Amino acid sequence: MARKPLIAGNWKMNLNHLEAIALVQKIAFSLPAKYFDKVDVTVIPPFTDIRSVQTLIEGDKLLLTYGAQDVSAQDSGAFTGEISGSMLAKLGCTFVVVGHSERRTLHGETNETVLAKTKAALKNGLTPIVCIGEGLEIREAGDHVAYNVDQLKGSLAGLSAEEISKIVIAYEPVWAIGTGRVASAADAQEVCAAVRATVAELADAEVAAGVRVLYGGSVSSKNVGEIVGQTDVDGALVGGASLKADEFATLSAIA
Ligand code: PEP
Repeated sequence: MARKPLIAGNWKMNLNHLEAIALVQKIAFSLPAKYFDKVDVTVIPPFTDIRSVQTLIEGDKLLLTYGAQDVSAQDSGAFTGEISGSMLAKLGCTFVVVGHSERRTLHGETNETVLAKTKAALKNGLTPIVCIGEGLEIREAGDHVAYNVDQLKGSLAGLSAEEISKIVIAYEPVWAIGTGRVASAADAQEVCAAVRATVAELADAEVAAGVRVLYGGSVSSKNVGEIVGQTDVDGALVGGASLKADEFATLSAIA
């Protein structure tokens, strides 16, 4: 099954809503419409920017989509500081990142939390981008494939094949995020192939053939071609390089 590559720009806690508008305008200007036939491109701004990004993208009929960096596992109520899936859906979000390593390590999110958030996203018609990835010690011990398979199984436990068919999975080795130390294309392929095989086990072969598996970790225009050229890598989750319009447009065009 042909899978359309996805390039997702995770802005993290960068850019206010005015800076967000300027960046989206520049990306759209640098990425002619013809590219969107072959690649899906999405921006993932902070919550406070989403309404402005929505207004711009809808108003100018831009072909970019957008999403959020996190979602509450709860529907509504006394959860100060949380943002629900229905709120994000109302803002027209397509994607929501779930279980980014910064949420897992800095905010103590477990596989159970990630699963609950994934369910909340699906319930509201959002596409969760479920992140997994090993730390350096695990990689150096050679246990990375088993670790990622376990993390994926824990993060998707009990989901139906239909639900799994609606998610995107991002393999992001923690040692490669924001470090400039990108995984080799072979490293990315090794784990992304294991992710796909695990999806076949959890769902079925058809779902595994259709699910998009991204690589993330110091992706740039210099390395994206080789990484996304791997059989089981269907795009990239991009942090630092997504904050520079020219660089993000260039790497999206290459993918
Ligand atoms: C990320 O934040 O998911 C990420 C991959 O960051 P960077 O591209 O900066 O390594």
